Amino acid sequence: SVGQVTADMIDMLSKKSFPLCMQHLHTSMRQNHHLRHGGRQQYGLFLKGIGLSLEEAMKFWRAEFCKLIDGDKFDKQYTYNIRHNYGKEGKRADYTPYSCMKVIMSNAPGPGDSHGCPFKHTDMDLLKQKIKSMAIGELYLEKIMSEVKAGRYNVACTRYFEATHKLPLEQQDQAFSHPNQYFEESQRQIN
Ligand code: SF4
Repeated sequence: SVGQVTADMIDMLSKKSFPLCMQHLHTSMRQNHHLRHGGRQQYGLFLKGIGLSLEEAMKFWRAEFCKLIDGDKFDKQYTYNIRHNYGKEGKRADYTPYSCMKVIMSNAPGPGDSHGCPFKHTDMDLLKQKIKSMAIGELYLEKIMSEVKAGRYNVACTRYFEATHKLPLEQQDQAFSHPNQYFEESQRQIN
């Protein structure tokens, strides 16, 4: 773990240590200054899980969304939900980040949505292009795509991790089952 994560660290962390699902959510948010509900839930709880405090989360979402809408509208529409995810509203439950299984199996993204698992929910040709554009070696790419074809999405994600962390192919003998586990392992490798 990186300890205290602040809003201004997220761009850097997203490039180095976020799994593809969270990179995609982050990029969409930065591009559109918005994320729809499914994306805010998946991404917001992940960020909570990497150690972003409620205060920093509020700063993060507000700064980006308020490039499009004013502060009053933000307060009315979005702060309740952010506080809710941190257990400060409603049932006051301590909500936990979604596992890969949950992301892959439930609430498939529709048009305009950015949530979900790219290995499962992105068109295969697009996914291949995207991974290729990250200068990932041919052997890794082939392996990733063959796992996608076989429906082993989190195994494909694990091969992608190896490719992007300069690890030998299939070095990780256990496939990731949680986006936050991916993050923690990345931080362990880097630091
Ligand atoms: Fe995210 Fe899990 Fe899919 Fe990897 S396998 S992209 S961590 S949901």
